[in-house]
Amino acid sequence: MFEKFKSPTLFFSGGRDSLATLLFLRPYWHEITVAWSNSGASPQSMVDYMASIAARVPNFVELRGNQPAWIRANGWPVDVVPVESTAANHGAVVRTIQFAPRTSCCGANMWEPLQRYIQTNRPTLVITGQRLDEVLRNRQRDGEFTKSTDGVTYWNPINAWDETQVMAYLREQGEPLPPGYADGATKSVDCWNCTAYVEHNAERYASMQRNEPEKWEQIHSVLRELGERLRIESKPLFDLIGA
Ligand code: SF4
Repeated sequence: MFEKFKSPTLFFSGGRDSLATLLFLRPYWHEITVAWSNSGASPQSMVDYMASIAARVPNFVELRGNQPAWIRANGWPVDVVPVESTAANHGAVVRTIQFAPRTSCCGANMWEPLQRYIQTNRPTLVITGQRLDEVLRNRQRDGEFTKSTDGVTYWNPINAWDETQVMAYLREQGEPLPPGYADGATKSVDCWNCTAYVEHNAERYASMQRNEPEKWEQIHSVLRELGERLRIESKPLFDLIGA
């Protein structure tokens, strides 16, 4: 199937969409490499899950970020950044808790390892589980096939599926959902301590609050500080526009 491509690789996040894609490709597993980008803060349940996937497929590679070190240097990832509490705001009071855009954190710890993999191994086909109706998706890769400027073809085999189809397919395959979904996650759980993607993590936070209160306290204290900083820093704007 992949004769015309060099080193075809599936970027596998451990979310239900990438799992459906992996199962969809089952007849071709011997032809592809499954690559997982471990941020360096993956929950143990995901590490164990990936070990089980690695035992099932012929070719599996784990790529590594270093999210804990990155957060120490740059701040906690957030959806909305209070600028006065960032590492880049050199003129300001240095605050104990600093924040950074989630895109920078995911970029450094999840996406750069994948880019390094591409630069090192030069696959000409990268397969992903991206779907067109997802909110969190790479819009440059919309469509079943796209080609990047460096000559890599991206293939999203389940591009046109919706969430119901994915769930039905996994049931039909008799495949349990990856870690996190039973706790209410709606996407792959990349980092146990992520303080961004709050909209998608709300159910998971609630589960953590019930089952792992000491972990929840670490996250909650960061979110509390974030809420306070956003309230202070956004007040002049809301006063101005009368909102
Ligand atoms: S999921 Fe959250 S903590 Fe993990 S790399 Fe992305 S922004 Fe950072």
